[in-house]
Amino acid sequence: MPAALAVFFPLRYTRRCLAKILVTGGAGYIGSHTRYFLEQHGHSVIVVDNLSRGYREAVPDNELRVLNLQDTGKLTDLLQQEKVEAVIHFAAYISVGESTQRPELYFSNNTAGSLSLFEAMLQAGVKRVVFSSTAAAYGIPDRVPISEDQPFAPINPYGESKVMTEKILEWLDRFREFRSVRLRYFNACGASPEAGLGEMHDPETHLIPLILRAVQTGKPVTVFGDDYPTPDGTCIRDYIHVSDLAEAHIFAVEHLLNGGASDVFNVGTGSGHSVKEVVASVERVTGKKVPFTLGPRREGDPPSLVADSSKLQKNLGWKPKRADLDQIVADGWQFANRRLIEAS
Ligand code: UDP
Repeated sequence: MPAALAVFFPLRYTRRCLAKILVTGGAGYIGSHTRYFLEQHGHSVIVVDNLSRGYREAVPDNELRVLNLQDTGKLTDLLQQEKVEAVIHFAAYISVGESTQRPELYFSNNTAGSLSLFEAMLQAGVKRVVFSSTAAAYGIPDRVPISEDQPFAPINPYGESKVMTEKILEWLDRFREFRSVRLRYFNACGASPEAGLGEMHDPETHLIPLILRAVQTGKPVTVFGDDYPTPDGTCIRDYIHVSDLAEAHIFAVEHLLNGGASDVFNVGTGSGHSVKEVVASVERVTGKKVPFTLGPRREGDPPSLVADSSKLQKNLGWKPKRADLDQIVADGWQFANRRLIEAS
């Protein structure tokens, strides 16, 4: 394409290249959605998951390889045999609380596991990866909305395990021509009921599924603190629909497949909602009162985390399509009800 035209058309629209993509952690929440949307876009996918926290039923049988990331040799063989062209790397533990109780688990599984994957990729000659990072890399930010140039300042081992992996990727880019897009997620939520996919963590710690469960069971959810310096006193977060998040990965991997440079992007909507606003949304969507009690603050919760995601929108042409909170809650509610029916 002539350079003049390329100015008007973002890279994504200049060349679609369909590829064989390995998704680690593809049996988990965001990984399973990304696997689904990759296939909707025409890519072929192999999933690596050790099923320690993922769900076998979230992946078609013929695509699943049950494997530990620390098994560098087997990963190298798989990458070569399957002629993988790029990797999207989700496989990680995600519980902040658990990471403060057992930091070693997080550095071993998240950081050492990632390094093993990158070594296997180097050995197999696969040099493009999209990495699942987190807003926890910023800790308690100086400015909100948060842009990517704010410094790393994690306040828990989970965030640090992701920061360490980001730094490994920066060095590999510099000295090994290993290209990566690091995506820093804000609060992933919602579901894709049409694909039979949604949020199922065990134990569940996230706000929206816990509120939905409270509506289903009548057992109150605890609101962690209402004395924060926010308009209604409860914490503000940037809730990003999991299908929008999954799409960001597709833009990112296609950017790399098209020869794009390494980069880092926030993935959020740019709008924040308080815990009380989420409760109100659930009441609107379900038509039921949310039973809740007020508890103390949860340790390590910053008052407000909202993304500045203008860089991702400008550079890769991504846009959130399901940013409306009621839509997010409605999708989550539909999925939660389906699970309840299946379980009974
Ligand atoms: N939260 C809450 N009660 C809960 C779980 C979460 O009040 O049972 C609050 C939490 O303090 C935070 C927001 O909901 O302000 C989102 O928390 P979540 O654990 O879903 O995501 P995080 O922001 O910690 O990644």
